[in-house]
Amino acid sequence: MAVRPIITDPGAPEVRAKAKRVSRIDETIRTILDDMVDTMRAAPGVGLAAPQIGIPLRLIVIEYEGRLFRLVNPEISKATGSETDEEGCLSVPNWQGPVTRATSLIVKGRDRDGREVRVKVEDWLARIFQHECDHLDGTLFVDRVVDRSALHWVDPNEDAGDAAEGKRRRRRAAAIAVAPGE
Ligand code: ZN
Repeated sequence: MAVRPIITDPGAPEVRAKAKRVSRIDETIRTILDDMVDTMRAAPGVGLAAPQIGIPLRLIVIEYEGRLFRLVNPEISKATGSETDEEGCLSVPNWQGPVTRATSLIVKGRDRDGREVRVKVEDWLARIFQHECDHLDGTLFVDRVVDRSALHWVDPNEDAGDAAEGKRRRRRAAAIAVAPGE
């Protein structure tokens, strides 16, 4: 278990490449998934895709409202509904913008043990899944913002909003926690 460095350059080839499907879920894959969870929690964030730590494989982790997902080869189907809300990304630090996403979807894939998984997710959790699956195709939220001029910089010391991958309260708590040592 280890925290790995997150690529914070939205133009980096690693975050722009299409990730490859995982053919076999072995110890190496399980270690990457575990490290991704550590890295996501340390950021802190609510989701992370393998390309964000420089690994070109279709792996995502999500933790939201007490539910932890570690998915291999995730695929979205039956996406319905539409909602526009502010989104952010650990690989595009301090930027946010409005993105339109489906509000309900089915996600299929395999879990850490190789078992088939099929989950129905809604609202903010559905947004996170769409954001993370986009990463596997080299797509970032900045490519999907409704209006480029609506992209805006957010002071990391102020309310960041409940944007995907970066949550307001956790981010503020982390900022407070590191302040005395700086
Ligand atoms: Zn992201």
